Amino acid sequence: MSLRAGVVAVQGDVSEHAEAIVSSGERHGESVEVIEIRSGGVVPDCDLLLLPGGESTTISRLLAREGIDAEIRDHVAAGKPVLATCAGLIVTATDANDERVDTLGVLDVTVDRNAFGRQRDSFEAGIEVAGLAEPFPAVFIRAPLIDEVGEGVEVLARWEGRPVAVREGPVVGTSFHPELTDDPRIHGLAFFDALAAE
Ligand code: GLN
Repeated sequence: MSLRAGVVAVQGDVSEHAEAIVSSGERHGESVEVIEIRSGGVVPDCDLLLLPGGESTTISRLLAREGIDAEIRDHVAAGKPVLATCAGLIVTATDANDERVDTLGVLDVTVDRNAFGRQRDSFEAGIEVAGLAEPFPAVFIRAPLIDEVGEGVEVLARWEGRPVAVREGPVVGTSFHPELTDDPRIHGLAFFDALAAE
């Protein structure tokens, strides 16, 4: 039986995430079928969900318009895993400090959108991630930083002391883009390691 992974495809690095999930599944002996999510009614059939980067204002507006927002909340409430990256992390947060982003509130963090400003638009850094034996090559692009984490949130990685990867229950959020390197370990951590531990 294959797992069904839904990639929210209103915007962002959809095909890269699709490849990373399939490749991570292969490493863990699971076959994965990927579906792109653009409208309501698809999320309830998904085992795993992925929220890519892009522009969080646009993504949150489309999720609300299509009714996908409520479906994602139900998915999380049912304990099913989600990986949210960059703009995806902003959208899942409790607060994005920006009234243009209607956040889902499924990850108890407060984020600062575009925290790096123009000075440091994009860069790559090797970071230590809890649960991974070797450092992960993290690509940051107009990345958000996490300002505050709630009590139930585990910080998985930091960059210069600030949290950049977190987990709360079934939701993993990263401010960097794990789909842009040829290294599916973050997808493994978010999806398959958790399933194996059940
Ligand atoms: N800063 C962007 C936003 O606010 C996110 C950037 C990204 O996903 N690469 O949506």
